[in-house]
Amino acid sequence: MQTPGAFERLIRGLLRAKRDGRPIVNVDVVINKQNVPFIDKIVELCINMGVKEFDLLHVIPQAEAYRNRDEMFYDVREHLPRLQKVFRLNRLPGFYIWTNRFPVSYLEGMEDLIQDPHKMLDEVNGRRYHVRNYLDTGTPLECREPDRCKHCFIEPFCTTMERVVTTQNQEALELWWVGADPAVDPKTEPLPFGATWLGLHRATVGELPTTRAIYAEVDEAAPLPQRAADAPPLRLVAKTAAQLQAWLGDGALPAGVSVELRLTRETAAWMLEHTERLVLHLEELTLVQPTHETMSAAVAEDVRDPASFFAALGLRVRVAGLPACAAPGTLLVEPLRRLDRATFDAETGRLDWRELARHHVSREYRGKSVRCADCRLTARCEGLHINMIRDQGLKLCRPLVDGEWAEEAEAQLSLAQPRPRRRIEDGMTPQPPAPSLPGFAPPETPEEDPLRRHNGLKRSAFLRSGRAAAEVG
Ligand code: SF4
Repeated sequence: MQTPGAFERLIRGLLRAKRDGRPIVNVDVVINKQNVPFIDKIVELCINMGVKEFDLLHVIPQAEAYRNRDEMFYDVREHLPRLQKVFRLNRLPGFYIWTNRFPVSYLEGMEDLIQDPHKMLDEVNGRRYHVRNYLDTGTPLECREPDRCKHCFIEPFCTTMERVVTTQNQEALELWWVGADPAVDPKTEPLPFGATWLGLHRATVGELPTTRAIYAEVDEAAPLPQRAADAPPLRLVAKTAAQLQAWLGDGALPAGVSVELRLTRETAAWMLEHTERLVLHLEELTLVQPTHETMSAAVAEDVRDPASFFAALGLRVRVAGLPACAAPGTLLVEPLRRLDRATFDAETGRLDWRELARHHVSREYRGKSVRCADCRLTARCEGLHINMIRDQGLKLCRPLVDGEWAEEAEAQLSLAQPRPRRRIEDGMTPQPPAPSLPGFAPPETPEEDPLRRHNGLKRSAFLRSGRAAAEVG
């Protein structure tokens, strides 16, 4: 408490509000190194005054909190039992506990307290001038500093942004998704940032161009037409059992066709009943765990406990989008590196920060359990999508410590990723701005943050020191 007498005044006000009976009284506590040893006592004191609603905020590395970081930041693991005791109040009738910016990995067993990931959109909105400035000029966010980023709630978004810009700059994109956009001519649409696949959504396979590599979602579930032996590749996304039934017959797939099989409860049931058909097409198949922007979609579609499904399937099939512990006995591959045309501003051809934040939430936002520290794959594993965690829990993370699959999965991932992927909190090198989409001008000077004009925010010591440039991204 920085203002003398403030605590007494606050308690008097709280008691008056409770006595009056009309206001809903909620106590916010910013949990930090000073108060975390007493957090249960603080909550108990408030309960004795009649408070039943608490918002428990994780301290964030900004302003005074960061300047006094040695007195503010603490190791959550050391205080986890006490924190969990407080969080569990949420189970009691009449009590409401909210967490705010609390790290996902510590909420195992209390996943209902994980904030809706759309909160990230608000956080990015608060930094929109800085994000725009980074995307258009390459000037890193003022706060970028590994020591700080490792405590920061929006680090996962910043890492996604950094990886997207790196993909653009390195021309390493694989899939350029335009969907059903009527403004796009699928025969001539240029493929930006090194992409090789054009992604389309059409009602039927017959509507797809046959002159270039196409990745397609189609609505129909009809037998596939034959194709010329030298036809460019066509990757079809199978989302329903009817499509699997129609496409994966007893004969070979048409020339150049491969199938990306979305793992859902419906397709999983079909696969378990038709393993002999999958065996015939293993070379052309990749199973992909979808990510969902909302938890309700995960609840409706996701297979319960994918590890049990793969154990029952017993096939050495290629799998993308799941950690090794959730896909035992499979060939682990990366999903296609994808960007959607809708993620770019139609007028400037630059990444739109709102859509980039949505891309992060719906596709890239992942988390792990605190127990993953024991897993031999942890450095090369990004865990589960946030809405799968909110739906099925961190219990799906099963650390691979020893055994045949642990060894094999480690060998597979080490081959695919000789060096673990770096994150902002590891000190990834800031990227120069990526080019605009083909046919668009380079970026204009972005608008300055009005707050910066007024209070003159300073660059982080890490960036001023030049250490960032020396780090290898
Ligand atoms: S690090 Fe965690 S999520 Fe990843 S494979 Fe190991 S236990 Fe599973």
